[in-house]
Amino acid sequence: MPGFEVFGEEEKQQVLEVFDTGILFRYEFGEQRNGVYKVREFEKAFADYTGAAHAQAVTSGTAALKVALAAMGVGIGDEVITQGFTFVATWEAILDIGALPIFTEVDETLNMDPVDLEKKITEKTKAIIPVHMLGAPARIHEIKAIADKHGIPVLEDTAQAAGARLNGQHLGTFGTCGTFSFDSVKTMTTGEGGMVISNDETLWRNCSEYQDHGHDHAVNPGGRGGEGRSFVGFNYRMMELQGAMGLAQLAKLDDMIAAQQKHKAIFKEAASKISGVTFREILDEQGDSATFFAFMLPDKEHAARVNQVLRDNGAGAINFGENSWHFYPSWEHLTGGKTLCHNGWPFEAHGKRRFIYDPEALPASSEIMNRTLVYQVPVKLSDAQRDVTLNALAQAAAL
Ligand SMILES: *Cc1c(COP(=O)(O)O)cnc(C)c1O
Repeated sequence: MPGFEVFGEEEKQQVLEVFDTGILFRYEFGEQRNGVYKVREFEKAFADYTGAAHAQAVTSGTAALKVALAAMGVGIGDEVITQGFTFVATWEAILDIGALPIFTEVDETLNMDPVDLEKKITEKTKAIIPVHMLGAPARIHEIKAIADKHGIPVLEDTAQAAGARLNGQHLGTFGTCGTFSFDSVKTMTTGEGGMVISNDETLWRNCSEYQDHGHDHAVNPGGRGGEGRSFVGFNYRMMELQGAMGLAQLAKLDDMIAAQQKHKAIFKEAASKISGVTFREILDEQGDSATFFAFMLPDKEHAARVNQVLRDNGAGAINFGENSWHFYPSWEHLTGGKTLCHNGWPFEAHGKRRFIYDPEALPASSEIMNRTLVYQVPVKLSDAQRDVTLNALAQAAAL
């Protein structure tokens, strides 16, 4: 899974080029920087790689979501629909922009169920955020068709699926925009970092200005101090060291994915011998970034029994039904409305609860997640790790 497995001379060389200039800031310092603009170069390379017209680098995947929502004009009073299986960052960004997150069920793609999406659209829905969880696509064509019918923009949270494709087209390029994360456990990493991609120049320009306090980035005789501004923004700027890391990691991304696909196939072959096993629905096996391998058992008890055998043999799998960071029923800080703010914001406004998040609200997702077991797929698979995992899966198959 993480790109740090393949850190090497390329990353060192890129970072040293930044130190040689002494300039860590992505803007200004025209003379001193000797033509080194790593963040700018990374944006261009990432846009070219994904086939998007524009890319805006920011400080994290969470910031990318927030900046994209801001650029789309989403705010207080709006609803944004996402799925109940995702990382907390997706709905944190929605809350932070002032809107309310509304959650859909997932289906056996482990991503947004389009049938449930259609039921949850209201006149307040201002954006839809399908998440391409665990490296593989949501039903983006169906989701996009429903969104288009209602005139609602789609933001693809592609944090876990950089480099993944659906029939040759990069995830993150189907909707109005796509966001990425390069945090330290993502396939390609810059330590911390994120990106928004889009074909919409106005949306990109809004992102570019919003993430830099509203600076219009027009060349002015007074330099940055003389730049104009047309709206208020914030600071989510990526620094040059991250841009340098991103360039080195992006160049390795396709090879990392190829290695993961190979290792996933080894796990899948062994898991297919387990009685009653089925697999997550992957819409395009060739385009799968294969950062994770997910398999299902007929029910929760069966999955627990299999996972006990895997654990006893040193290769326990993740059951996201039990995990507290990625699945709706365990987000007690969301369902309980816990916040630091003295007046209850963002869960309360004017002394009233804005929305009740019932932990039982997504029964179909729970049914699926509780019987799904997941392995992270490494970029580098040692013989020892392979043998332990294959033996554990063989023991589970002998159950
Ligand atoms: C990692 C992740 C994010 C947030 O990215 P950060 O860079 O850690 O802020 C958002 N969404 C999903 C689905 C993620 O996995």
